[in-house]
Amino acid sequence: MAADRLTGRLVPGGPWERFGRYNAYHVVRDDGAALVVRAHAGELVPGSTEDLVAFLSGLGGALPRGPMTLELDPTYACASVSCGEVCFSAEYRAQRPRASIGSEALRQAISAFADAGGRVLRFDGGGDPLLHPDVRSGAAVRLGAELGLRTTILTSGDLLPATDWRAVVDADCYLRVSLNAHSTPVRRRVHGNKVDMDRLWHVLARACEHARAVGRTPVGATFLLTPDNYAEVALAARRAREVGVRHFSVRRVLGPDALRRPFDPAARAALPELLQEVAELDADAFRVFVPARDVAESDLSPRAGDIAATSCWQSVFKTVLEPAAGPDDVRVQLCGRYRGSGVGQAMQLPPLAADADPATWDRAWARSFEVYPVSRPDLIRTCVSCIDRGFIQMMDRLVAFTAMGARPFTIEHLWLDPESLARCEPGIVVDDDAGLAIAPA
Ligand code: SF4
Repeated sequence: MAADRLTGRLVPGGPWERFGRYNAYHVVRDDGAALVVRAHAGELVPGSTEDLVAFLSGLGGALPRGPMTLELDPTYACASVSCGEVCFSAEYRAQRPRASIGSEALRQAISAFADAGGRVLRFDGGGDPLLHPDVRSGAAVRLGAELGLRTTILTSGDLLPATDWRAVVDADCYLRVSLNAHSTPVRRRVHGNKVDMDRLWHVLARACEHARAVGRTPVGATFLLTPDNYAEVALAARRAREVGVRHFSVRRVLGPDALRRPFDPAARAALPELLQEVAELDADAFRVFVPARDVAESDLSPRAGDIAATSCWQSVFKTVLEPAAGPDDVRVQLCGRYRGSGVGQAMQLPPLAADADPATWDRAWARSFEVYPVSRPDLIRTCVSCIDRGFIQMMDRLVAFTAMGARPFTIEHLWLDPESLARCEPGIVVDDDAGLAIAPA
């Protein structure tokens, strides 16, 4: 089909430069055909387009033998009490779970991931990764780096002052701290503990300065909007910029409606201006991402047809590992939505593997394509809520266009105006690259 003119611009640069600045991919195949598809600009960096291209190209048309991205929850423990009762794990946080993956099992799980062709290792939770001594010491991310993986730690930052953040930064790990406040009283209200925000800002500034001095991956921060903290979002963004944070993303609470506290009308009215204030802080040295969707918007339901895709590509390209019954086993989950089933989260699908050997969990994961009772395509008709529509729909178009990586392709990043972007929602394919005209915005 011939494409009408799209209005936008090419976004050059590496992951750091383009963070928050593109909303579409321009994919060109070896035969000259081109696809324009909506893409998610608030991606985690590292773990970026470059990894996606390399991983998909390496598949050559086959299903992966291991995931591209591993979300590794080393522990269920967390130093925050509730994250404003809106954390996705709120349902089981009340049980104060402490289970952790043992040191040797953690090492084996990371090695198995690298051996199976994995690229992005993300320490996540569940609990808070910095509650695990091997993450806090930097040993886990150092191992990941030695195995050629890109690494990320997503943390509340409660234990940042007690962390060897130099070792983490030196391993080129992307450290992303959930600030969720500017002041100590608000931070304490949201997280339910006694962490001093001034101390956290101070340590964050030192980690940012160290990353800059040694030329390593810059430090990022997030702010999860809740009724308790929304008024401080712009203050926190300004302070983050001052202390040297390089990426600041504002997040909406995701998860079932029952886990969300409503924003009152005054808060709803104030939010657009506050978010605009944050967005205007965007600069070369301070990349900002603010959500386009309303804070009160419910999760999307694959079962209700909210996700237009042929398969759950999230659980084809990524997986979650979390603690199991003992420190020597791991639990393999479909995706982040099903985290915590080892401590009683009442979700409707079982894990891909409940007590997997950490040295061979990747094989259990690959076998799940055959033996798991719900196929990846059927997940799209089964799950009642999902937080990964953007990735799933993007991959649906990309997998079809490249025949699961069997066709060589390249990707450039675009920023399209809203109307052009809406037209790209199902993906626009043109027969040759010359037929695709991108007019400067
Ligand atoms: S919730 Fe979404 S990402 Fe998770 S398994 Fe279901 S469809 Fe896939």
